[in-house]
Amino acid sequence: MPSMFETVALLFICFLIGVIFYGYSLIMRRLPSREELRSERCSICRQTLPKDELVERPIGDHKVLFFCSHCIAGLVRDEQKRPAHGKSDVDRLFSDAAEKHRTN
Ligand SMILES: [Zn+2]
Repeated sequence: MPSMFETVALLFICFLIGVIFYGYSLIMRRLPSREELRSERCSICRQTLPKDELVERPIGDHKVLFFCSHCIAGLVRDEQKRPAHGKSDVDRLFSDAAEKHRTN
C-alpha cells in the first residue's frame, strides 16, 4: 500500500511528464514567422540574415548555400593574400574595376 507521500510524488511526476510533452508539442507545432521564412543562415559565419542580403549558390541538385557580404569580403581578402599562381579572377576583377575608374 503506497504512502500518501508516494502517491503525491507519483502524481507530480505524471503531471511533469504531461507538461513536458505539451510544451514540446507546442514548440513543434509553431509555424515559422514571416521573418524566419524570408531569412537564411550564412553558410560560413552561421549568422541569420534577410535573404536579400545574402548571395545564393546552388550546390549540386538539392543544396543551396548562402553567403553574407562580410564573409565574401573575407574570402576576397584571403584569395588576394594567397601566393599567386598566375593572375586570379579576383585580381582580374579588381584590375578591371581600377581600369574603369582611371578611364572615367
Ligand atoms: Zn557570413
